[in-house]
Amino acid sequence: MRVLLVEDEPRMAAALRAALTVKHDMVMDHVATLADAELVAGDIGYDAILLDRQLPDGDGLDLVPRLRNKGVTLPIIVITAKGTVPDRVTGLELGADDYLAKPFSLDELIARLRAVMRRPSALNPSRISVGKLSSDGAFRDIRIGGRPFELPRREILVLECLMRRVGRMVPRPVLMEAVFSLDDEIQSNALDSHISRLRRKLAAAQAGVVVNVVRGLGYMLREEL
Ligand code: CA
Repeated sequence: MRVLLVEDEPRMAAALRAALTVKHDMVMDHVATLADAELVAGDIGYDAILLDRQLPDGDGLDLVPRLRNKGVTLPIIVITAKGTVPDRVTGLELGADDYLAKPFSLDELIARLRAVMRRPSALNPSRISVGKLSSDGAFRDIRIGGRPFELPRREILVLECLMRRVGRMVPRPVLMEAVFSLDDEIQSNALDSHISRLRRKLAAAQAGVVVNVVRGLGYMLREEL
């Protein structure tokens, strides 16, 4: 699950990064201005946006209708000190999915994030099954024949990305985007290392799937014949 945080307060951003990436194994990108948010929000495959309102270059809420008009349907949760009832109503009317007043508990934020992701309007796909593998599509719960299949975070992200496109070649840039945040320092062979570990584990667990290499282009997951 990849989240875009739009927040200009460094301490708040650091706290959210710790909660989302360390505690809940999500990928998070952070921008601090409306302009940067607008630049990346529609282009990168985010699963949700957390949006502060009082930003240095304007009201974060202005971004919501602009994104909706561009056809961006991903869930947006507004997080702000402006938490009066009229503020909340305005936020929801403009197309935000939820509105959370600061200060809020991180546990509540995570719960709300998961709730908006479960809504049918979210782009997030629901449960996927390939071979004996199944994934709930967003919350890093991968199973083989119904039993939990424990994997490190990045291997889960790679596998979910391949499962969503089973039988099709997934280009390297799509996989890189699913696995690494903009701030990560990425070595060129990092993706290949994750995939080769993943292939060994899938074979050892008799998952009923194989990951094929499409040399120089990407990877493809298919059911084992
Ligand atoms: Ca702010």
